[in-house]
Parts: sequence; structure tokens; C-alpha cells
Amino acid sequence: MTASITTLHVDDPQPLADAILDTLVHRIGKDAQAARTHDWLAATILTVRNEIIERWMASTKAAHAAGAKRVYYLSLEFLIGRLLRDALSNLGVMEQVSAALRSLGVDLAEIEEIEPDAALGNGGLGRLAACFMESLASLDVPAYGYGIRYVNGMFRQRIDDGWQVELPETWLAHGNPWEFERRESAYFVGFGGEVTGTDDGAVHWKPQEAVEAVAVDTPVVGWRGRRVNTLRLWTARAFDPIRLDRFNAGDYQGALAGQLAAETLVRVLYPSDSSPAGQELRLRQEYFFSSASIQDIVRRHIQYFGNIRTLADKAAIQLNDTHPAVSVAELMRLLIDHHDLDFDEAWEITRATFGYTNHTLLPEALESWPLPLFERLLPRHMQLVYAINARLLREARKVEGVDDRAIAAISLIDEGGERRVRMANLAFAGSHSVNGVAALHTELMKQTVFADLHHLFPDRINNKTNGITPRRWLQQCNPGLTALIREAIGPKFLDDAEALIDLEKFGQDASFRERFAKVKRLNKVALSQHLKTDMGLAIDPDALFDVQIKRIHEYKRQLLNIIETVALYDQIRSHPERDWVPRVKLFAGKAASSYHNAKLVIKLANDVARRINADPSVGHLLKVGFVPNYNVSLAEKIIPAADLSEQISTAGMEASGTGNMKFALNGALTIGTLDGANVEIRDHVGDDHIVIFGLTADEVAAKRRDGYDPRSVIEASPELRQAVSAIASGVFSPDDPNRYAGLMGGLYDGDWFMVAADFDAYHAAQRSVDRRWEDRDGWVRSAIHNVAKVGWFSSDRTIRQYASDIWKVM
Ligand SMILES: *Cc1c(COP(=O)(O)O)cnc(C)c1O
Repeated sequence: MTASITTLHVDDPQPLADAILDTLVHRIGKDAQAARTHDWLAATILTVRNEIIERWMASTKAAHAAGAKRVYYLSLEFLIGRLLRDALSNLGVMEQVSAALRSLGVDLAEIEEIEPDAALGNGGLGRLAACFMESLASLDVPAYGYGIRYVNGMFRQRIDDGWQVELPETWLAHGNPWEFERRESAYFVGFGGEVTGTDDGAVHWKPQEAVEAVAVDTPVVGWRGRRVNTLRLWTARAFDPIRLDRFNAGDYQGALAGQLAAETLVRVLYPSDSSPAGQELRLRQEYFFSSASIQDIVRRHIQYFGNIRTLADKAAIQLNDTHPAVSVAELMRLLIDHHDLDFDEAWEITRATFGYTNHTLLPEALESWPLPLFERLLPRHMQLVYAINARLLREARKVEGVDDRAIAAISLIDEGGERRVRMANLAFAGSHSVNGVAALHTELMKQTVFADLHHLFPDRINNKTNGITPRRWLQQCNPGLTALIREAIGPKFLDDAEALIDLEKFGQDASFRERFAKVKRLNKVALSQHLKTDMGLAIDPDALFDVQIKRIHEYKRQLLNIIETVALYDQIRSHPERDWVPRVKLFAGKAASSYHNAKLVIKLANDVARRINADPSVGHLLKVGFVPNYNVSLAEKIIPAADLSEQISTAGMEASGTGNMKFALNGALTIGTLDGANVEIRDHVGDDHIVIFGLTADEVAAKRRDGYDPRSVIEASPELRQAVSAIASGVFSPDDPNRYAGLMGGLYDGDWFMVAADFDAYHAAQRSVDRRWEDRDGWVRSAIHNVAKVGWFSSDRTIRQYASDIWKVM
């Protein structure tokens, strides 16, 4: 029995319940008595999946029949999170499935909660890819996401005695009912070996080793089930799973070495790059998924359209950061070596096909590979990079004002010191469009990292401010608020987030404000209960929930927040008579496993929390919590309950941020610097409804240029000096009084991230937040105003802009 569209959409839950039960028995092999929660989850997914498959095939067929251009989004990360609620909600069958399960004695909320988070990403960049996939399907754009099916993904974080401990994420332990392995879609991906020429000028690459890339497909359901696209993740297999000759000779490890090497390739996201082996593995991963994806795209194009020369008319490939940048050389290789195009024609097609999205200006985060490693692993691609570079530099030399310094900056090869291949320059040169992810970031791209390339190609850089899907980040994570908005302004905002603007006038309506505040409070109660059972943290739902959840990084300045928390703690104890606003400070986030200072910040947050939470003299006025294992599902619980959104990066360092958008959409006020998309959030909500503080990007740059003396700044601020010296002297780490001496010393010694420079402004901004909170009507009015004004930050808007300006598919 299959659950057809009719089974899912009728009011009677019986046929759907029958279908789920039938799946349980015949697919899972259990009856209702023996079934465990995981079995019900799998049976529900498999049943719903049947409906999705029909739409999926219909979407593919329609695109084929129309000869449509396809969008290909290449990303090393897809932070998609759980999929069941997303699919049910987008298909509009939450109620029906819930009722059918209820009739079987099963609670939908309970089975949703045990679905593992597909944590195939690290942070914002991976979540952006997931939001984009959902919006592409919702806007009916034929699109494929391409990435890697990591068996263990991003690590799972446990906090032991305040320290981060990294454990393997075992999201596939119970199988994955969402995915389809496509053994017929498999490609040869080679590494190493040598390149030889033939008499007729053709080039032959004979790799030394190879793996087989096998496609594993996950359907991506758009809003209202309008379209179902494909997320195609590659897994790796050895061509010879077992070498019997070696096995029979007793060399069991040698017999299985090929399989082990293939499995290693797709084991984890971000293998530690602290060893040369880790660096090499990372480059292998990048080439592995780039090569498989480009081969797949070219194969599909030839199959559908028959002529490789029309590739750019029918395929738009977007590179999500430089991780897939080797795709530029891979497409050149296929066009020249396999499809016999000459270099110039191949280059024209390549540039017309690719677009590149830049996500960072941090010099240490701009990818480059040691030239000897690149050449050893990818000898043919090395030749092509040289050829592309020769052409690029020849063009550059013809342009006014391009001197030797500019040539050195434009070159695909970094010649300063150990020679390296610059992936950002390769991606830039190989694309017709290069975009930043927020207006400020795009401006800074032009002025800094890409200044010389921008001079050469002044029309190439453009801005596409990031967005978030309002389906997951409002409708699914905050059903209470969604229902309230719908009651007030009708359902239009469900299809067009910018219709939220109709909510603006309800800020003046006292009874609406009351209902809005009630929804927020219910979300805060739910989060409080979750944190109580999950980590034993007791918090008061009536306190101000002040939240900073994101990857732990020095530029994001969790340290600024923690130091300010210590200063506040100090003041509450010194002046208990003042009318302090009760606050709960919540932190969550993972630190890269080799990032020492970030891990120390996690420990500090936990040490500070332990001390403050146990101090009866502050009581309910201040509580601090570090919530372990930040991921999409945790974000979906915390964000609807937040009052204050901490977006306090050093100005000029956060490319965009998307967490900032999620909070505002759920009625939190932002405290933040003029960085990334905060600038545009301020433009949309207006100065009165956001709390901006601190140095601007220009001021940060000027301070760094002209010399900045953090010591004098710290000495001049009694609150800051007191907090820093308390932390440095071991007040929060009596078991190891020196633990934070180095971290605090770094503030005196350079303070690259301007924590001291921004402290007083931040501290004052926090006190202005207290005063706002005391005016509860004003606060709720601002919260409603934020929800009403941030519909523009829907990823539907972002995708429309990519589609019309870059991909030319709309
Ligand atoms: C949105 C999101 C991010 C990005 O957060 P920023 O605050 O923009 O850095 C990271 N991780 C998860 C799980 C997210 O949902």
C-alpha cells in the first residue's frame, strides 16, 4: 500500500494510519506491539516519503520536458538538521499525520524529537546552503545541491567539567530513511600519477589511485510541496573492495586498504588540519566531491542536450566559498581532455557557467594549498592552473595601473615564501559573478582581499545579502507565533514573508501586544523545562533571556559578553539595592577542535556560570548557562524563546550572519555592532528598535593602522579592569588560578578583536537594554516591529536575486 496524495490529504486519519502500520510491518518487520519509537519514526518517514517520491519524479520530468536550465549548488557543508517536520509542514500534512499517529497511540512530537540532526555542516555557511535548497524548491527552481555524505559529520559536543569534548556524531546509526543510494550514478575520481602528452597534442592523465564516487540522494521538499529537488551527497567506495590476492596471502589489512582509504575520505567534515595528512585529506575531499559533481553535471547536460557547447545556457554552478573551487580546473579538464575543446573556448564556457560566493575576509581563512601537495595530488589540474594563470596575468598586464605588486596579488600562485595555490583567486578568475553575502562585506571585498582583481574585473563583484527560510525559522520552530500572526494579518505571509509588514500596526494594539507577550512567555517556559531536564539548569521564564549561540570564535566575541557578565555580577553584588533586571545569559556553540582560545572561552563560560549560579547573593537576578552541542534543532528551541540577540562581532569581521535574522524574525531585539547583515537589519527595523554600539569597520581598521593601546583602555575603565583582573587572577578558576592568565594577557597584549576598545560601549548598551526591558510595552512593541520588518531577510528574496542576476533562471 502506498500513501498517495489522497491518503495524506483526506480528513479521515484511518487510511493514513493503515498505511503507516503497513509500512511498519512490511518494511520495518515489526508489529505495533513490538515497535519502538525509532521504528515508528522510520515507518512514518517511509510512508510520507511515498508521496514525496511522486512529486520528486514529477518535478524532474517537468524540468526535463521544458528543457529547463538547472542550478547546481556546490557546498562542502549542508547543515540541514531534522527533515520530518520540514517535510510534513511543507506538504501541509502536519495535522493529518499527527492524527493518524495518535490513532495508533503514537505521539508525533515524540518521534520528531528522536530524529537525528543531519549535522553535515559547521555553522552559518552550511545552514545557508540548507536554507537555499529549501527556497530553491519553494520557488520552483530546478536545482541540485552537491556535497559529501559524511558518515560522522561535525562532531557532537559534550561538556565535561566545563571543557568541550568532541565525540563522533553517529547520525546514521539507525539508518537514514530519507536517502536513496544511486549505484548507477557512480564516477571514477583519480588522484596523483602522471600526465603524458600524445603525438596529436592531446593530454593524458594516468592517476595513481582512484575511488568510486556514488550518489546518495535526499529529496528537498519546497513550500506547499510545489517542487521537490535533490540534495545529492557523494559517498566513496573502493573499486576493489577487497584484494583477494593479499587476503589469501594473509595480509588482511592490505587486502582492505583500498576500502579503508575510501571510507576515510567521507568520514568527517573538517579533518583536523594540524598535520600534513589532515591537510591532504581535506584537499582530497574537495577534489573528490568537485570531480564527481562536475562529471555528473556534464553527463546530464550531454544526455539532455547533446552538445557540450551549450553548457552555460543550461547549467549555473554556484561555488559556496572556495571549498569547491577546484571545480573550475576540473571542468576545464573535462572540456579540453574529454570533449576536445580548445583552451579559449573551454575557458569561455567555464566562466559563463560558474559563480562564486565569498564568505570571509579573514586572511587565515582564505584557502590556499602548498603547491607541491596540489601538484602531487592533481598534476593535470596544476598544469591547467598554470595555463589559466598565464592567461589571467597576460590580460592583467594590459590594464592601466596594474603594476608588479598588483600582478603578484592577482596571481593564482602565491609566490611569497612557500609557493601556494590560491583558491579564492582561482574561483574569482573562473566565475562570471563573485558575490559577497551582505552589503558591508561586499564593499570590504572590493577594498581589501579582491581590490586588485576588482580593478581588473570591475563588473564581477556583486552583493547578495543572505537570508533564512521562514518555513523552518518561523513556521516550524515557532507555531505559537505563526498562529498569532495569522490570526492578525491572515495567511499571506506564509507564502510571502514580506507581507509580515502588515503586522506593523499591531504594535499599537494593547490586546495584541498582550497575546504576543504570552506566546513569547510560553516559548520561554518550554525552553526552561528543556534546559531543566537536559542539563539541570533552573531559570526563571520571566527573566530577560539574553542569548549568544553560534560557533565559538574570537571574532564573534563571546569573550566580550562573558567579561560583561562578570562586570554585571560584580555590580549586582556591590549594589544589591538597585532595581536590577533579572537576566538569563545563554551561550551555545562548538569550537574547532584545534582552536585553543575558543575552547578556553567555553571553559570560561562554564566556570563563570558555575560560580554565579551558585551565589545566593545574586539569586534570580543573574543566571548563566552554556548549553551543550549547538545544532539546528537546539537553535529551533532556543531562538523562539530569546528576548535579546547577541550579534557583537568585531566590526568588519562577520561576513553576514544569519543567526541575527532568525532572532529578529522571532521577536528578539538585537544588541550588536555595525557588522555584516546587522547593518541592513538596522536599516529595516530602524534605529529605535535595535541596540547598536561600538566601533565601526572603518574605525576598527583605523585603530589597527594607527596603533591601539588596549592597556590604557583597560586601565581607564574600572568595570573592565576589575572583571579582567578577577578572571585573570583565578576568581572563577580556583582549581587552576592561572587558567585564564594567558587569555586575559592577550587583551593587554594587542587585543586584535577590540574587546577592550568596545567594552564600555557594550556595557552601556546593556544598561540601556535594562531600561528598555523595564518599559514592557515599549519592549513588546519593538519586538513586534522587528518581526514585521524583517521579512526581507527571507532566503526566498536572496534566491530570487541569485536567480535573476547570476543564474539567469528567473
Ligand atoms: C543559523 C545558524 C548558524 C549561524 O549563526 P551565526 O550567528 O550567523 O553565526 C550556525 N549554526 C546553526 C546551527 C544555525 O542554525
